[in-house]
Amino acid sequence: MSQPNAPQGPTDTGIDRASGFTRRSLAAQAMGRIEPETRAVVMPLHVSTTFIRDPDNGYSSGYCYARPDNATVREAEAVLAMLEGAQAGALLFGSGMAAATAVFGALEPGDHVIAGTVMYWALKRWLRAEAPRRGLALTFVDTDDTDALRAAIQPGRTKLLWIETPGNPLWTVTDIAAAAEIAHAAGARLAVDSTAASPVHTRPLELGADIVMHSGTKILNGHSDVVAGVLAGATVDPFWERIRDIRAGSGGILGPFEAYLLMRSLRTLHLRAAAQSAAALKLARGLSAHPHVTRVLYPGLPDDPGHAVALRQMRDGFGFMLSIRVAAGEAGAIATAARVRLWKRATSLGGVESLIEHRASVEGPDSPCPPDLLRLSTGIEDPDDLFGDLDRALCDAHEA
Ligand SMILES: *Cc1c(COP(=O)(O)O)cnc(C)c1O
Repeated sequence: MSQPNAPQGPTDTGIDRASGFTRRSLAAQAMGRIEPETRAVVMPLHVSTTFIRDPDNGYSSGYCYARPDNATVREAEAVLAMLEGAQAGALLFGSGMAAATAVFGALEPGDHVIAGTVMYWALKRWLRAEAPRRGLALTFVDTDDTDALRAAIQPGRTKLLWIETPGNPLWTVTDIAAAAEIAHAAGARLAVDSTAASPVHTRPLELGADIVMHSGTKILNGHSDVVAGVLAGATVDPFWERIRDIRAGSGGILGPFEAYLLMRSLRTLHLRAAAQSAAALKLARGLSAHPHVTRVLYPGLPDDPGHAVALRQMRDGFGFMLSIRVAAGEAGAIATAARVRLWKRATSLGGVESLIEHRASVEGPDSPCPPDLLRLSTGIEDPDDLFGDLDRALCDAHEA
């Protein structure tokens, strides 16, 4: 596939500044660390929950107990911090939700938060339920509309802008640099849920974001066998330290075995992301011409409303997620999902196996997701097989 969006801007070179190697090379070798005792190229899995004190009563290794910290978790965090260019480092959590909610947990009662109308449904539901209990004021806006985002600021009160780009499940694109400018002018922080972009396609911290969040369950792990979450920070400040304290205090840290699996997956992230994004673009183009599809939502398509911004802030592809709207409506969409054979009819995204889901069945009536929409997560199967399977299901469902 051609790569229409070449690296943009002086900071976005794909090169890790500390080493001079590309992020892809560093990730492939999990930072090139060698275990000193055996010279192993794969680091051991650290499972110990406790550590011996020094004769002088200290803990010179930096480890004393496994809830605040773990060596295997730290190794995976080092890879993630490198991938995101995160000066403050990265923190792994037991799920994406645990990571996201730690950010909101670091706010103070009375703070105002702006979040997107189009965002991960379970987090939106959590915010609606929990924000009032925590004394947080909450405004939902279409964050892809920069003017609406600016207008939602409550001077002196807004402390956090939470954006998700591309935003699930419509894949709307929010201008990260513009959102960062708006947030900072108001003295607020910008946090970006970058799960659907992955650090391969977008690095929000380089565009001015303060915190980037991923569900590690998705393409970072990519094999549908780990639930994990990550935050990466631009600067160590009291807010970041409070998030770290929240993780230690609440016991939200990722388990070492999950961290080990995640690090194994990060070695192939660039290969998987490239293949999955290329397949998604191919599918998006093919489905745009399909008689039983009324619309394809994918920022890689030139007529997509988010395409211009995506060209600026995404590189080496537009991600592995797309949605289609089915001409035969909600019943046709559900019937299509029931008739695929190669696509797997299941929730989640970013795995090596392609998944299809009728999102409105999950999200309910107060979601912006139209009832005729099918969400597609593209894996690493042969894109022609994927297209053929979906084409046949769409045609069968249309005739039924
Ligand atoms: C899955 C997902 C989450 C939540 O992550 P979990 O690991 O399931 O807790 C948050 N944001 C987005 C965009 C997601 O896709």
